[in-house]
Amino acid sequence: MSHATMNSTPTSQNGMTLEPTPELLEELAEASARLETATPEEIIAWGAERFGSGLTMATAFGPEGCLILSILSRVAPETYVFNLDTGYQFQATLDLRDRIAEKYGLEVEMLRPELSVPEYEAAHDGPLYVSNPNQCCFDRKIKVLHRGLAGRTAWMSGIRRDQSADRAQAAIVGWDKKFNLVKISPLANSTKQEVWGRIVKEEVPYNPMHDQGYPSIGCWPCTRAVIDGETDERAGRWSGTGKTECGLHSIDQQEGSGI
Ligand code: SF4
Repeated sequence: MSHATMNSTPTSQNGMTLEPTPELLEELAEASARLETATPEEIIAWGAERFGSGLTMATAFGPEGCLILSILSRVAPETYVFNLDTGYQFQATLDLRDRIAEKYGLEVEMLRPELSVPEYEAAHDGPLYVSNPNQCCFDRKIKVLHRGLAGRTAWMSGIRRDQSADRAQAAIVGWDKKFNLVKISPLANSTKQEVWGRIVKEEVPYNPMHDQGYPSIGCWPCTRAVIDGETDERAGRWSGTGKTECGLHSIDQQEGSGI
């Protein structure tokens, strides 16, 4: 299993913080533009080299996350990786942690909210995913993400620009104003077909629910299978509520984009 300390630069050691100075934003914009034509491996290697042990990754075990984990196992296996374990994840999602660990030797830490699901629902007279899903996501994802990112200088996500209109402007590298650190999206310019092509070819473990009509999988109360004719792969997330994101990936809160 991994998680030892990596080589680090003076501005990327775990426990240090970065400030979005003009110089840093310029560096990120230049890197993002340069990495537009790079492979995911090259982007991840750049992130590991630049930020060392300050680099982390949050994964929900989606196909993109699983592909990145397979690359991390070769390129930067000591990277700290965590999952936001809301208590509402599908069992098939939780099982992926073990399958990834078995295949790649990568340990994903499961970070949980302060209150268990029964405690949380008791405190709010029922499940907030029904009455106030934004608050539920804030309490059970965003707060936990802050904990996982504490002391880090860069985080990686598996978002792709072709996932949704919200994500179409995602930079390869940029400053995440919401969480106050660098955000790296090694698959931003990869297509769904490219990601799945690699997963199949390289036999990367993935959630079997993807073969059962669930292109995008989150918490079970807020995820349904897509219906015939639905082309938006995130159509089954928070369906019918008007909500499209849990708040982790606020593209309008990103600076330093090279696009
Ligand atoms: Fe709660 Fe649904 Fe958000 Fe999960 S996705 S944290 S269940 S509102």
